[in-house]
Amino acid sequence: MSEKSEVERAINSLGELRLIGFQVKDNDIIAEVETYKKPVFCPSCTTAAEPKDRRTSTIRDLPLGDKSLILLWKKRVWSCPNPDCPEITWTESADFVTSRHSLTNRAKINLMKDADQKGVSISKLAQKWKVSWSTAMTAIREARELTRTSQENVKEMR
Ligand SMILES: [Zn+2]
Repeated sequence: MSEKSEVERAINSLGELRLIGFQVKDNDIIAEVETYKKPVFCPSCTTAAEPKDRRTSTIRDLPLGDKSLILLWKKRVWSCPNPDCPEITWTESADFVTSRHSLTNRAKINLMKDADQKGVSISKLAQKWKVSWSTAMTAIREARELTRTSQENVKEMR
């Protein structure tokens, strides 16, 4: 499979993003991504929102082969055109990553599995993912929370 289709497949599997383009720099694949276009409405007054700006978030995802996958998420900033509305602008959020976090949820789960099942130390994981010790620790704690919630959902469905 070509590198491009591998990167595309990784991005598509997050379910919310499309690949704009990517470049390979040493051991990193740096991929520019954005959410699929869809109509957005103001959270306060439900008027159709207008695109205002883009803000880039840098987020690490699961590695692709021996390379790190780094997402440059071109987040959309929306504005409400209703002059009577208190909500002036807001930045989009998504399910694949917690707001303002530097690792995708599935990357956090990967860290958690390495720590809990393989006994890899937090400092080794921090080094591997190029994040601080506290970010790695927080990621593991949150992944435990995420997986516990989804297991509870499965139980409820049975
Ligand atoms: Zn509004």
